[in-house]
Amino acid sequence: MEKRYGKRRRRYEQRARRFMRRTRRTRRAGNIAGVLDQLGHLLKKEQEKYFSKEIACIEKDWCLPEKSRIESLKPILDGKMILRVGGRLERAEMEYERRHPAIVPNGSRLAWLIMHSAHSATKHGAVQVMMQHIRQKFWIPKIRSELRSYLHKCLVCVRHNHRFEMQLMADLPSERVTAGKTFLHTGVDYAGPFEIKMEQESKS
Ligand SMILES: [Zn+2]
Repeated sequence: MEKRYGKRRRRYEQRARRFMRRTRRTRRAGNIAGVLDQLGHLLKKEQEKYFSKEIACIEKDWCLPEKSRIESLKPILDGKMILRVGGRLERAEMEYERRHPAIVPNGSRLAWLIMHSAHSATKHGAVQVMMQHIRQKFWIPKIRSELRSYLHKCLVCVRHNHRFEMQLMADLPSERVTAGKTFLHTGVDYAGPFEIKMEQESKS
Protein backbone atom coordinates (compact mmCIF):
# COMPACT_ATOMS: atom_id res chain seq x y z
CA MET A 1 0.00 0.00 0.00
CA GLU A 2 2.85 2.30 1.04
CA LYS A 3 4.75 1.33 -2.11
CA ARG A 4 1.77 2.07 -4.37
CA TYR A 5 1.20 5.46 -2.72
CA GLY A 6 4.87 6.35 -3.18
CA LYS A 7 4.71 5.39 -6.86
CA ARG A 8 1.56 7.46 -7.44
CA ARG A 9 3.13 10.43 -5.68
CA ARG A 10 6.29 10.18 -7.76
CA ARG A 11 4.23 10.01 -10.96
CA TYR A 12 2.25 13.03 -9.89
CA GLU A 13 5.39 15.02 -9.07
CA GLN A 14 6.90 14.07 -12.43
CA ARG A 15 3.76 15.34 -14.15
CA ALA A 16 3.87 18.61 -12.17
CA ARG A 17 7.56 19.10 -13.04
CA ARG A 18 6.81 18.45 -16.72
CA PHE A 19 4.00 20.98 -16.48
CA MET A 20 6.35 23.59 -14.98
CA ARG A 21 8.93 22.94 -17.72
CA ARG A 22 6.35 23.17 -20.48
CA THR A 23 4.90 26.32 -18.94
CA ARG A 24 8.32 27.96 -19.06
CA ARG A 25 8.98 26.84 -22.61
CA THR A 26 5.59 27.79 -24.02
CA ARG A 27 5.58 31.15 -22.26
CA ARG A 28 8.91 31.91 -23.89
CA ALA A 29 7.42 31.01 -27.26
CA GLY A 30 4.47 33.28 -26.56
CA ASN A 31 1.92 30.47 -26.88
CA ILE A 32 -0.23 30.31 -23.78
CA ALA A 33 -3.02 28.13 -25.18
CA GLY A 34 -1.05 24.93 -24.45
CA VAL A 35 -0.31 26.10 -20.91
CA LEU A 36 -3.97 26.78 -20.21
CA ASP A 37 -4.86 23.31 -21.50
CA GLN A 38 -2.32 21.74 -19.17
CA LEU A 39 -3.49 23.83 -16.25
CA GLY A 40 -7.13 22.94 -16.95
CA HIS A 41 -6.19 19.26 -16.99
CA LEU A 42 -4.37 19.48 -13.65
CA LEU A 43 -7.19 21.51 -12.12
CA LYS A 44 -9.76 18.94 -13.18
CA LYS A 45 -7.67 16.06 -11.78
CA GLU A 46 -7.28 17.77 -8.40
CA GLN A 47 -10.93 18.79 -8.20
CA GLU A 48 -12.07 15.26 -9.02
CA LYS A 49 -9.80 13.93 -6.28
CA TYR A 50 -11.04 16.29 -3.55
CA PHE A 51 -14.56 17.33 -4.62
CA SER A 52 -15.95 14.30 -6.50
CA LYS A 53 -19.20 14.34 -4.47
CA GLU A 54 -19.78 18.04 -5.07
CA ILE A 55 -19.16 17.68 -8.84
CA ALA A 56 -21.61 14.75 -9.05
CA CYS A 57 -24.27 16.76 -7.20
CA ILE A 58 -23.86 19.85 -9.42
CA GLU A 59 -24.04 17.72 -12.58
CA LYS A 60 -27.34 16.24 -11.39
CA ASP A 61 -28.58 19.62 -10.20
CA TRP A 62 -28.84 18.38 -6.62
CA CYS A 63 -28.05 20.19 -3.38
CA LEU A 64 -24.43 19.92 -2.22
CA PRO A 65 -23.66 17.21 0.35
CA GLU A 66 -23.94 18.24 4.00
CA LYS A 67 -20.80 19.66 5.58
CA SER A 68 -19.24 20.28 2.16
CA ARG A 69 -16.09 22.40 2.51
CA ILE A 70 -17.07 24.58 -0.45
CA GLU A 71 -20.78 25.02 0.16
CA SER A 72 -20.42 28.72 0.97
CA LEU A 73 -18.73 29.35 -2.40
CA LYS A 74 -21.92 28.32 -4.29
CA PRO A 75 -19.78 26.38 -6.79
CA ILE A 76 -20.65 26.07 -10.49
CA LEU A 77 -19.23 23.97 -13.34
CA ASP A 78 -18.03 25.82 -16.44
CA GLY A 79 -18.13 24.54 -20.06
CA LYS A 80 -14.90 22.56 -19.49
CA MET A 81 -16.28 20.96 -16.31
CA ILE A 82 -14.02 22.98 -14.04
CA LEU A 83 -15.39 23.85 -10.61
CA ARG A 84 -15.57 27.61 -10.08
CA VAL A 85 -16.80 30.01 -7.40
CA GLY A 86 -20.43 31.01 -8.09
CA GLY A 87 -20.87 34.22 -6.12
CA ARG A 88 -22.92 37.26 -7.06
CA LEU A 89 -20.56 39.00 -9.48
CA GLU A 90 -22.16 37.64 -12.66
CA ARG A 91 -23.04 41.13 -13.89
CA ALA A 92 -19.77 42.79 -12.87
CA GLU A 93 -17.62 44.21 -15.64
CA MET A 94 -14.51 42.09 -15.19
CA GLU A 95 -12.96 39.03 -16.81
CA TYR A 96 -14.70 35.68 -16.36
CA GLU A 97 -11.79 34.23 -14.35
CA ARG A 98 -11.95 37.04 -11.80
CA ARG A 99 -15.72 36.81 -11.48
CA HIS A 100 -15.59 33.03 -11.13
CA PRO A 101 -12.12 31.92 -9.98
CA ALA A 102 -11.35 28.20 -10.27
CA ILE A 103 -11.48 26.35 -6.94
CA VAL A 104 -8.16 24.74 -6.02
CA PRO A 105 -8.36 22.31 -3.06
CA ASN A 106 -6.30 23.46 -0.10
CA GLY A 107 -3.53 21.07 0.87
CA SER A 108 -3.18 19.84 -2.72
CA ARG A 109 0.08 19.81 -4.67
CA LEU A 110 -1.45 22.15 -7.26
CA ALA A 111 -2.29 24.70 -4.54
CA TRP A 112 1.36 24.56 -3.43
CA LEU A 113 2.58 25.11 -7.01
CA ILE A 114 0.24 28.09 -7.43
CA MET A 115 1.48 29.61 -4.14
CA HIS A 116 5.07 28.98 -5.21
CA SER A 117 4.53 30.74 -8.53
CA ALA A 118 2.73 33.67 -6.81
CA HIS A 119 5.55 33.98 -4.28
CA SER A 120 8.20 34.38 -6.97
CA ALA A 121 5.95 36.59 -9.14
CA THR A 122 5.44 38.96 -6.20
CA LYS A 123 9.17 38.87 -5.29
CA HIS A 124 8.71 37.15 -1.93
CA GLY A 125 5.39 38.92 -1.28
CA ALA A 126 3.66 38.61 2.09
CA VAL A 127 0.28 36.95 2.74
CA GLN A 128 -1.91 39.86 1.57
CA VAL A 129 0.06 40.50 -1.63
CA MET A 130 0.09 36.83 -2.58
CA MET A 131 -3.61 36.54 -1.83
CA GLN A 132 -4.44 39.40 -4.19
CA HIS A 133 -2.27 37.84 -6.88
CA ILE A 134 -3.77 34.35 -6.57
CA ARG A 135 -7.41 35.43 -6.36
CA GLN A 136 -7.29 36.96 -9.81
CA LYS A 137 -7.65 33.42 -11.13
CA PHE A 138 -7.89 30.87 -8.33
CA TRP A 139 -9.75 30.36 -5.09
CA ILE A 140 -7.98 28.29 -2.47
CA PRO A 141 -10.18 27.68 0.61
CA LYS A 142 -8.50 28.69 3.91
CA ILE A 143 -5.88 30.49 1.87
CA ARG A 144 -4.47 32.56 4.77
CA SER A 145 -3.35 29.58 6.81
CA GLU A 146 -2.08 27.86 3.64
CA LEU A 147 0.01 30.91 2.77
CA ARG A 148 1.30 31.29 6.31
CA SER A 149 2.54 27.71 6.40
CA TYR A 150 4.08 28.20 2.94
CA LEU A 151 5.92 31.33 4.10
CA HIS A 152 7.29 29.51 7.15
CA LYS A 153 9.12 27.22 4.73
CA CYS A 154 10.68 30.00 2.61
CA LEU A 155 14.21 30.42 3.98
CA VAL A 156 14.66 33.91 2.48
CA CYS A 157 11.46 35.21 4.13
CA VAL A 158 12.20 33.50 7.45
CA ARG A 159 15.67 35.09 7.53
CA HIS A 160 14.41 38.57 6.61
CA ASN A 161 11.45 38.57 9.00
CA HIS A 162 13.43 37.27 11.96
CA ARG A 163 13.02 39.49 15.02
CA PHE A 164 16.12 40.36 17.01
CA GLU A 165 16.26 39.06 20.54
CA MET A 166 15.91 41.77 23.21
CA GLN A 167 18.55 42.02 25.92
CA LEU A 168 17.18 41.31 29.39
CA MET A 169 18.00 44.30 31.62
CA ALA A 170 19.04 43.93 35.28
CA ASP A 171 17.04 45.55 38.13
CA LEU A 172 17.71 49.27 38.70
CA PRO A 173 19.74 50.11 41.89
CA SER A 174 17.74 51.35 44.91
CA GLU A 175 19.19 54.92 44.57
CA ARG A 176 17.53 55.26 41.20
CA VAL A 177 14.10 54.13 42.29
CA THR A 178 13.86 55.87 45.70
CA ALA A 179 12.61 59.47 45.92
CA GLY A 180 15.09 61.93 47.52
CA LYS A 181 16.47 65.50 47.36
CA THR A 182 18.01 66.72 44.14
CA PHE A 183 21.64 65.58 43.71
CA LEU A 184 21.37 63.35 46.80
CA HIS A 185 22.78 60.69 44.56
CA THR A 186 24.69 61.43 41.39
CA GLY A 187 26.22 59.16 38.86
CA VAL A 188 28.59 59.32 35.96
CA ASP A 189 28.72 57.27 32.78
CA TYR A 190 32.23 55.94 32.62
CA ALA A 191 34.04 54.53 29.65
CA GLY A 192 37.66 54.12 28.86
CA PRO A 193 40.58 54.58 29.36
CA PHE A 194 41.07 56.09 25.91
CA GLU A 195 44.54 56.31 24.46
CA ILE A 196 45.12 59.60 22.71
CA LYS A 197 48.07 60.91 20.76
CA MET A 198 49.37 64.30 21.91
CA GLU A 199 50.60 66.80 19.34
CA GLN A 200 54.43 66.98 19.28
CA GLU A 201 55.83 70.28 20.49
CA SER A 202 58.05 72.08 17.99
CA LYS A 203 61.78 72.09 19.00
CA SER A 204 62.56 75.62 17.79
ZN1 LIG B 1 10.10 34.12 0.41
